[in-house]
Parts: sequence; C-alpha cells; structure tokens
Amino acid sequence: MSDSTLSKQAETASGYGYFRARMRHYAKPFRQASRTSRWLVFAGLGILIFFTLVAAVGPELYGFGATQYRVETAPGQFQQIPQLAPPSATHPMGTTRDGFDVMARVIGGAKLALIVMGLAVSVAMLIGVSLGLASGYRGGPIDRILVTVMDSVYAFPPLVLAIIISFILGAFISPGVFSAAFAVGVVYIPQYFRVVRNQTLAVKQETFVEAAQSLGAKSRSILTRYVFFNVVHTVPVLLTLNAADAILTLAALGFLGYGVQPPTPEWGYDISQAITDVSSGIWWTAFWPGVAIVTLVTGITLVGEGVNDVVNPLLRARGASGPRLPRRQKKPRKGADVEDDSYAVSVRDLRVGYRTPKRPLWAVDGVDFDIRYGESLGLVGESGCGKSTLGRALMQLLAPGCRAYGSVRLGGEELIGQSERRLRQKRGDDVAMIFQEPMTRLNPLMRIGDHFVEMIRTHRSKISRKQARAMARDVLSQMGVPPSRIDNYAHELSGGMRQRVMIALGIVLNPKLLIADEPTTSLDVIVESQILDTIAALLGNKSAGLLMITHNLGIVAETCDRVAVMYAGRIVESGPVDAIFNDPKHPYTRGLLASTVSLETTTLHSIPGYPPDLLDPPSGCRFAERCPYAMAHCTEADPALTDVGPSQSAACFLYPGAGQDVPAGLTPPSGNPQVVGI
Ligand code: SF4
Repeated sequence: MSDSTLSKQAETASGYGYFRARMRHYAKPFRQASRTSRWLVFAGLGILIFFTLVAAVGPELYGFGATQYRVETAPGQFQQIPQLAPPSATHPMGTTRDGFDVMARVIGGAKLALIVMGLAVSVAMLIGVSLGLASGYRGGPIDRILVTVMDSVYAFPPLVLAIIISFILGAFISPGVFSAAFAVGVVYIPQYFRVVRNQTLAVKQETFVEAAQSLGAKSRSILTRYVFFNVVHTVPVLLTLNAADAILTLAALGFLGYGVQPPTPEWGYDISQAITDVSSGIWWTAFWPGVAIVTLVTGITLVGEGVNDVVNPLLRARGASGPRLPRRQKKPRKGADVEDDSYAVSVRDLRVGYRTPKRPLWAVDGVDFDIRYGESLGLVGESGCGKSTLGRALMQLLAPGCRAYGSVRLGGEELIGQSERRLRQKRGDDVAMIFQEPMTRLNPLMRIGDHFVEMIRTHRSKISRKQARAMARDVLSQMGVPPSRIDNYAHELSGGMRQRVMIALGIVLNPKLLIADEPTTSLDVIVESQILDTIAALLGNKSAGLLMITHNLGIVAETCDRVAVMYAGRIVESGPVDAIFNDPKHPYTRGLLASTVSLETTTLHSIPGYPPDLLDPPSGCRFAERCPYAMAHCTEADPALTDVGPSQSAACFLYPGAGQDVPAGLTPPSGNPQVVGI
C-alpha cells in the first residue's frame, strides 16, 4: 500500500474519529436526560417527521390536488367533485362546500404551515438574537433605543400585531406565504431580544469575559467566542415554543381572513369556511384541519419540553431518578442511643448520592456521628471529600438529582424522609447554616432588618414586625454589630460585619444545631479570629451544637471540642481535639496534620497522589494508594472504625478491631506528626 493511501486512510480514520467524538459530545446531554424527557423528544419528533413527510410527498402520492374541484374522466372531459360528500373510499376525509377534497387540503395545509413556521421562527431568531447580543453587549443609547422599541412591540397583543403587519404587507406587497411568515415572525422578535439581551448583560460581567478583555481580545471575538455560546443555550427552547405558537397564529390569521389568499390550502381558513357546515351535521370539513392543528402543535410542544429538559442541566438532574441503595439498609452502627435527648444531632449510616449517567456517586458513604448540646465538632478533609454535601444533608438542602439515605435525628426528630413542609419549619428554626461569602447570601435589595423580620415571622407568626426588629437589634449587638446598622443594605457593611449578620440570622431563633461551612474563608485573620470567638461563645449556654466544616485545621483547634476527619466520603478518624492533634492514629490524619504549616515548620510535607474517583472507588481502604503503611490486605477489605484511644476511633488495619489481624511486631505510628513525622 502506498504512503499516500495510508495517509489518506489515516486522515479518514482520524476525521471519522473526530466526527464520532463530536457527535458523542453533543449527544451527551441527551443521554443524561431522564427517560421521560427522551420519550417526549422522540414522540414530538415522530409527529414532526410524519407531518414533514406528508407535506413533502403527500401532494405527489395523493390522487387529488388541494385546489382541484373537478376530475378528468376522459381526455378533455371533466366531472365536478361532489360537494360536501362524507368520508368514503374515494375521499377518505370527505369533500368541502367548494368541492375540494378535505384530505388534499389537509396535506396542502401541512406544507404551508411548516413553511410559514420555519420562515417565521428563523426570521424572529436571526433578528432577535442579533439585536439582543448587540444591545446587551454594547449598552448605551443603542441599548436604550432597542429596549424601548422591543418593549413597545412586546406590549402589543401578538395576534393584533400579526394582523396589522399582515394587512400592511398584503396591501403594499402581496398577501402570500412570505408576508404571512413575516407577519407571524415579527411577533416573536422581542422574545428572543429580551432573553438574549438579559443573558448577555449577565455573561459580560463574568470573570472569563473580563479575562479575555484584559488579554486585548477584540469585541467581535469576545462577542462570538465568549458571550454568544454562553447565551444561546436558551434559544432552542424558545424556538420550539414559538414554532408551536406560529402554527396557531397562522391558523388564527387564516381564520380571520388575514392569512394567505384563498384558495391556497390553509387550516385556519378552511375551518372558518366550515363553521356553517357544523350546524348542519357536516362535521368532516372542520374536524380534520382541527385535528391537524392540534396534532402538529402537540408534537412541536413535546419536542420543546423535551429539549428544555435536555439542554437545561438543572432540569436534567431534577428529572433524574436518583441513585438507589442496595435493597437491605445497613443497620445503625454502634454509637449513641438515637433517642438520647442530650444530642443536638445524631447521624447514622448517612449516605448521600448524586445521580450520574454511569452509576451513583456516593459523596457521603456511611457516616455516623453525634453532637451534644454545647459541643462543637470540626469536620475536616481535603476539597471534594464530601464535607459540604454532608452539611447540606443535615439540613436536607440537597442539589437536584441528589438523595440522602440513613438517619439524621435533629433533637430526636428524624429528618430523612420528612415532608418538605416540615423541613422548611426546621430550617432556620432548629437548624441553621452559616455560609462562606455572606455577600452572596444576603439579598442586596433588602435591608438587614428586613432579613430578620422575614426570618422571624416565617417561623413565629405571632411575633409582630416591631418585636422582630427588637429581637434583631438584640442579636446584632450580641454579635458586635451596632444595632443602628439594621437599616443598612448588605453592600454598606464590611465583610466581617456581613458575616456577623449571617451568624446573627442563624442564631436569632436559638437553633438546636448550627452548621458553619467555611465561615471565615473570605475574611482576614483578625476578623477571622473575632468571628471564631463569637461562634465559640455561642455554645456557652449549651442550647446548641456546632458543626464546623473547614479544611483549616487551625480553626478546628481554636473552636472545636472534637474532630472528625473525612476522606473520600467516609469518616476515617474521630476523637477529641487534643488527641487528634497530638497523637493522630490514621495515616491520612497524620499526613493532613504534617501538611499544616506552623511557626515550627522547617520542612514542607504533602500527601502524595490524589483522592480516589468516587464514581469508581477502589476496593478495600480508600487511602491505600497514598498510604505509606499500606499492607497487602489493605486493598482487599474495608477497615471498620475501631477504638484507638479514649473516645478516639480510626478506620485502619494498623489497629486491632478494624477487621484484620495486625501483623506481629508492627508498631503503629504515634505522637505529633509535625514533630515526629508521619
Ligand atoms: Fe493505610 Fe492500610 Fe490503614 Fe488504609 S488500612 S490507612 S492502607 S494502613
């Protein structure tokens, strides 16, 4: 085989490979969509394809023309088609008052409807999207003028606008198919304009656009490569919805006599001509065009609904059927009696899974812990180990497509499986969360006091607005925020003050459990220290428990009584702060502590490798690949949490009770890893 043939084959093969890869990429959202969404698209497409085939080949295959009122019986001899003949073998849908075959009219009407629909939505999309992009990106006087014009057009009732345009075009140009399509299309231009402009305004504020601008990219390049592809994802949905609407608008125009010129077949016009027939018992002249309109509009709407589910990742995830547990639930492991009322929260065998196209991803995989009133537990681990998912699971604030199993008892009441109504009552009242980035959590259009009034009165309807504001002032001053700031907006406060407001909002109703998720990430060290002191002081009256989620071990040392170390969705070690910091037992905890920089640090340490892929977690100990003490059986069996000291437990085969015999002569590591090494 010659070199050129080989290179051609390679080119073809790589070209084909590239094509397949692109197709797989585009088909991915479709594969990820729920079965219902896919069936909606299939059913809608089936109807659309049927009508397209009917419109394309129907006139050729069917024996009668849409405007034919006589048949040639012999060369030069014609016979009129009988008027108002009922459905028969010759005329399966009957004939009209003008002697037209109804089925031929329905077929001709399908062709006209599809042409007008295609032209109308294309015109509207091209004009609306282009103007929306330009207006949103450029801003200034052009934007103001275009917004005014589009808002004026949008304010018109769509059908009235279509009639006016159709009337003008019919009078000055010609009342043909293109005039009808343009009249229908103009109605939808403002919809595309408004959606695309608003999205463009949001996208142009994004940091990746700013980064492109800082690199000197031209406006045209930014608009086409950065903005366009981030705003057009809503267009397919709008397009399908408008397509269905275009069929109805065309039919309405035809019905009112403003559509295409008779005797061109058009469903709306044919129904208007058949109205008097219905009262005489002649049903077929209006029935079949009506069925055609309803069926085609239903088909396009089904495609639109399906496309919406497919292109919108949130809906995709919501429609998803979440991951399922094996049939038999694991029994709650050893630990506190879940009915013990000294616990603010008791968690047993908590599993939180996300649905993915391949298999469930268990971000939290069988976690047990308790927090007493007045006690604080620090939850630490690398990014992606499941800490934040666990925190949200305690509030049952889970992302779409995510489910929690197991048991979470808050003050003795089970939360898993509770109704959304009951969960809403618990959130903010019995369990509160302090998030990082308080600026994004406070409504920028509400005064600080209004946040408190809304929160308090949602849970305590008998408390008046005045009393709620008094409670807000009390709790703000308790947090070190001058009560006079109650009428400020979030942007008028410093970062530290905003976080204090968030904490005040969290504790104003005396919750049983406070969850702080990286509460000091965006704050400087002085403010961080003040906030941590404030949080620690909250536990003084023993009325609440605290779960501190952080990757910062220093914060845990300062604030918490106990620590739980998470790795790859599981708690691998837990115990009192002193024990965990001075004598951690699990190799991962030791590596984590050794990686912490302190004033005494002379050598920087890091844990080699990366956490495992939770979609396909390894068998045995999940830390085995990175563990300096890994033994042969570590990759075969799962270590169970076992007692390794007073109130301290670790999941590691280096210690008896984890499920495997400890090899004779093995000395587990001990002491402070920052001093003695891991
Ligand atoms: Fe290391 Fe084995 Fe312990 Fe896992 S079980 S942490 S691999 S020694």
